[in-house]
Amino acid sequence: MRFLIIGQGLAGTLTGYRLERAGHDVHYVDAPEQMAASAVAAGIVNPITGRRFVKSWRIDELIPEAKAVYTELESLLGVRFWHEMPLIRTLYNRGDRNDWEVRSGDPGYREYMEDQPDPGGIPELTEPVFAYAGVRHAARVDVGTMVAAFREKIVAEGRFLAEEFDYARIETLLGTSKRPEARNERKDLRAFPASHPPRTPEGLPRTLEGPSGTLRGPEYDQIICCEGWRARFNPWFAHLPHGGNKGEVLIVKTKAPLLDRMFKHRVFLVPLADDTYWVGATSENRFDDDSPTPHNRQYLEDRLAEVLKVPYEIIDHRAAVRPTVRDRRLFIGVHPEEPRLAILNGLGTKGASLAPLGSRWLVEHLLEGKAIPAEVDIGRWGA
Ligand SMILES: Cc1cc2nc3c(=O)[nH]c(=O)nc-3n(C[C@H](O)[C@H](O)[C@H](O)COP(=O)(O)OP(=O)(O)OC[C@H]3O[C@@H](n4cnc5c(N)ncnc54)[C@H](O)[C@@H]3O)c2cc1C
Repeated sequence: MRFLIIGQGLAGTLTGYRLERAGHDVHYVDAPEQMAASAVAAGIVNPITGRRFVKSWRIDELIPEAKAVYTELESLLGVRFWHEMPLIRTLYNRGDRNDWEVRSGDPGYREYMEDQPDPGGIPELTEPVFAYAGVRHAARVDVGTMVAAFREKIVAEGRFLAEEFDYARIETLLGTSKRPEARNERKDLRAFPASHPPRTPEGLPRTLEGPSGTLRGPEYDQIICCEGWRARFNPWFAHLPHGGNKGEVLIVKTKAPLLDRMFKHRVFLVPLADDTYWVGATSENRFDDDSPTPHNRQYLEDRLAEVLKVPYEIIDHRAAVRPTVRDRRLFIGVHPEEPRLAILNGLGTKGASLAPLGSRWLVEHLLEGKAIPAEVDIGRWGA
């Protein structure tokens, strides 16, 4: 079968990879001048989250699935992006310590929670804290590296089109006479103008098959929509309650030796492969654009001043929008009236851990007819 994937971020990459692995032809269209969440995320896989130390949804299934697909892709692409590393959390006071200890007695929690972890180089780098707690089986996925390496491969194979997809073309590309409900055509809303320079290297072919190639129709058996937060502009899926949460981060460098673990204090401090730290992130449900702002830069610098006790240099300041959903569950499924149109979205703040299993559920549904779990099936939102 021949598939077209709209949006090659984390969701589009894993879905496409699974389809290719099953022997299908996959083409991709992505607007490279837009900022993608996948290019900004730290990619933390965190089994125990929040102030109440709650186990992440389905984490026992998500971690093995993530490790399997990411390490397989590492071998295919010849780059490393799956990094297993402990996550050290700050306990701020006795109350926190008590909550942590009580929680670790709950069934299924013990294997993820360590009361007296080895903090490694954290005390030399950062201000003293009341106590440390350790999260086991945490990891970091360098999502940006994975997406870029996959893109390089599909560009070289002539299966990538660098272009903003025009939704009016869906009918022609699928050869369908069905149309999205008129009420869903949100012509009033437009993705705000791109605020970033193109991310693609000079000379990237903008077309699928050479300089003059383009999408033709009808030539696809199935179109899969993976546009991240911009899916709200897709008239076919505009009935879904798309959210959006803007996040900003700093990339900083210190002269001290790089940590070999992640640290969560006022902000996350995540060691990156190039000897820098990812520091973040901010979280805003209301935003006017996807650009970094001086206000949030100051906020992150203030948090960093509370955490680091060594001088640091800011290398970069980035922003992107997370594709959130009101009930905090994925969007997976096929369009109620046009089953050849499918969606994988709503990865929210946890795309690195959710996308591996989410893409498997979608692909197994499309290829084998397996049922999508009801809690993530878009059918829960009606037509
Ligand atoms: C600051 C920040 C920190 C984060 N940290 C973490 C973390 O630590 N752990 C974690 O698991 N998750 C994290 N996330 C969330 C994670 O980044 C997302 O869940 C995930 O990357 C979403 O992937 P996606 O493919 O759905 O969307 P995106 O990465 O946004 O990709 C969508 C792609 O579709 C393209 N597109 C959209 N519309 C069109 C169109 N009409 N035509 C062509 N192309 C189009 C876009 O250009 C983009 O490339 C973070 C996000 C942010 C912003």
